[in-house]
Amino acid sequence: MTRPYNFSPGPATLPEAVLQQAADEMLDWHGSGMSVMEMSHRGRDYGPIIEQTEADLRELLAIPAHYKVLFLQGGAQAQNAVIPLNLAALKPQRQMDYVVTGSWSQKSAQEAAKYGDAQVVADAASTHAGAESGYTHIPAPTTWRLRPEASYLHLCSNETVHGVEFHELPDLSALGSQAPLLIDFSSHVLSRPLDWSRVALAYGGAQKNIGPAGLTLVVLREDLLGHALPICPSVFDYRLQAANQSMLNTPPTYAIYLAGLTLQWIKAQREPVGQGQAELHGLAAVEARNIAKARLLYDCIDGSQLYENRVDPACRSRMNVPFFLRDESRNAAFLEGAAARGLLQLKGHKMVGGMRASLYNAMPLAGVQALVEWMREFERQS
Ligand SMILES: *Cc1c(COP(=O)(O)O)cnc(C)c1O
Repeated sequence: MTRPYNFSPGPATLPEAVLQQAADEMLDWHGSGMSVMEMSHRGRDYGPIIEQTEADLRELLAIPAHYKVLFLQGGAQAQNAVIPLNLAALKPQRQMDYVVTGSWSQKSAQEAAKYGDAQVVADAASTHAGAESGYTHIPAPTTWRLRPEASYLHLCSNETVHGVEFHELPDLSALGSQAPLLIDFSSHVLSRPLDWSRVALAYGGAQKNIGPAGLTLVVLREDLLGHALPICPSVFDYRLQAANQSMLNTPPTYAIYLAGLTLQWIKAQREPVGQGQAELHGLAAVEARNIAKARLLYDCIDGSQLYENRVDPACRSRMNVPFFLRDESRNAAFLEGAAARGLLQLKGHKMVGGMRASLYNAMPLAGVQALVEWMREFERQS
């Protein structure tokens, strides 16, 4: 049985090999007589699972030794509150700076405002003509109104709804700022390498590119620990969770296990780079494939009379590709024909409209080829 191609923005498609392995191990993990779901998080069997998951994550993302990895719950949106609770007081002025390039970073800024002096220091919607749904570019970092005493600067490095991605993260020190940079990398984590010299904290929900919902990843520099406000819930206090290996309370054990299987799958990926050259391994292979997938789809859109993507080509997302039919009356027919061909969940976010194809790591090139074939066929019919 071949499964359909699932372009969902999240929870999203997972590698079939990962699902198959989880199925095989469901009733009896490695002769333990238990499902991973049924194990004590402090037990002999589970310890190596979470340790291997952290080790593989560190290896794939080249996380420096002075960063902690936390496996938390609550989703990326809980972090919108957890970050101010932990980091607003990094500096006595308690100023929190936010760059808004789409709906997710906008939500982050709104939530932070409950906890103190959160300021939007750059807003893509107001520096460009258009309504709120018109997030289509990233204001140049030199125009950001950074506050010199801010505790931190927050941005969303891939806007899942609007399809806007930072292909290079800003170097805040070059902009004259000492503030740590915090990023929401939920929807492109592990799709490309990350430059930790520019990032003090990165967080994301697992359900886009890593595994099922329920696991929230937080990777942070050690000097950010120990600044939580007294009202911060203990299970969300970064210092306490780091001191307890993410086991201050029960971590999302099964979601961590599935994330671990996905990391092993990434490590095993290989991609040829051309005649006679060495093949790419692991994250480099995955990134090369992601670049090829995104290029195929954007080229199809740009080369057509029917389809349109409105995002500045300099910051078009590799992972989430929103596109419109110039004749909106044909939207339903497009989606119906796609579903009939096994191309699922292509309807755009209600805030933006049109279509959106999410091309996470687990989407094979063949899936994007099938989508592009359908798009060309549909255009010929219209
Ligand atoms: C999906 C998503 C979120 C929301 O995550 P939850 O787990 O629902 O809280 C936040 N930020 C980004 C960039 C996302 O893609």
